Parts: sequence; structure tokens; C-alpha cells
Amino acid sequence: MIYKILFAVLVLAMNFIRLYYMKRYRLHHTKEHEIKPLREKRLTQMMTLTMAVPGLLWLFTPWLAFGQFHLPGVVRIAGVVVGAYSMWWFYRIHKTLGDNWSPFLETRREHTLIVSGAYRHTRHPMYSDMMLWTISFVLITANWFYAATLSIGLAILLIIRIPDEERLMTARFGEQYRAYMAKTKRLIPYIY
Ligand code: SAH
Repeated sequence: MIYKILFAVLVLAMNFIRLYYMKRYRLHHTKEHEIKPLREKRLTQMMTLTMAVPGLLWLFTPWLAFGQFHLPGVVRIAGVVVGAYSMWWFYRIHKTLGDNWSPFLETRREHTLIVSGAYRHTRHPMYSDMMLWTISFVLITANWFYAATLSIGLAILLIIRIPDEERLMTARFGEQYRAYMAKTKRLIPYIY
């Protein structure tokens, strides 16, 4: 029960951050160029199916009980700490991107390329942060089925989106983005 509450608090925090920036996005966004909106729509549906739906089922129904495995309490609490840290970063990264943030792959007329803060060493800190919260959710829920759907969902997102996003940013910022790519890693500072 306690893990369900802690999990729900983290998911709520994540949704509050998202909703706040979605509201800003709706108010300020000036669409300039977007990439394959259909593919983006499919990706969003895929994430709902692999991340949100099983998460809600785990929280509110007994249907995923077959997937529970044992994890010591201290490990699950470590998951909560990692989760709280990842939500803090989630907020910070949104703030750093400011009005350049979008739930889709697109640029705005006044788009500026952010290369500092969380973007200093990696080009996709928000996706790295999603890896962090995936680890957190796996530890808290201790459910192999949810662990599998979450990881598959995240892997599909990263494999499809990152190359598309880098193509979009290169088309928009040209040499400036190429130089930024040469100086940074994709997801993990100094490693990949
Ligand atoms: N991939 C990034 C951003 C995800 S949000 C991350 O993981 O942190 C997706 C939007 O961010 C895209 O529509 C793109 O236009 C914008 N974006 C991505 N990298 C950016 C950067 N360095 N500066 C400004 N906007 C960026």
C-alpha cells in the first residue's frame, strides 16, 4: 500500500509538471516546422499503452499481481529517492527549455538552441531523465510485467525519436547543431 501511495505521488508530480508546461505551450507556441505528425501521434499512443495504462492497472486493479517479485524494502525506497530526484530534474529540464519545449518534434519561429544547463553534456537530458524514472518505477512497483512494458515503450521512443529529433534540429540550426553534436553525447554524459 505504501509503495502505491509513493508511486502515485511521483506520477502526480510528473503530470503536474507536464500540465503546467502544456498550458504554456498552448499559449505561446508558434509552429514553424514539424516532423511526421502521424508518427508522433503513434508514438504518443504507444507510450500511453506501454507506460500509462499498465501503471494505472498496477495502482488500481489486482490484474498485474501475477508479475510481482520480491525486492527488499530498502531497494524499493531507493527507487522512491531516485524517482524524486528524477522528477526534480524533469522540472528543471522543462524550465531550461522554456518555450522551446514541445510534446512533439517541431520547432517554433523564435526557437533558440539550448546548449547549457542540463543540455551542456547531453543532447537529450529529458529522455535520460525518463530512463531514470523508469528505473525508479521498476524498483518501486517490483512488477516484472510493468518493468517489461515500460522498458519496451521507452526503448521504442528513444530508437525512433532521437534520430528524427536530431535530423529536425540539424535542418533548423545547421552548423550550430552539428558543432553542438560534436561536443556532446546523446543520453549519458561522457559515455553515449
Ligand atoms: N530531446 C530533448 C528535448 C525533448 S522535448 C531532451 O530529451 O531533453 C522535444 C522538443 O525539444 C523538440 O520539439 C525540439 O524542438 C526541442 N529541442 C530539443 N533539443 C533542443 C535544444 N538543445 N534546444 C532547444 N530546443 C530543443
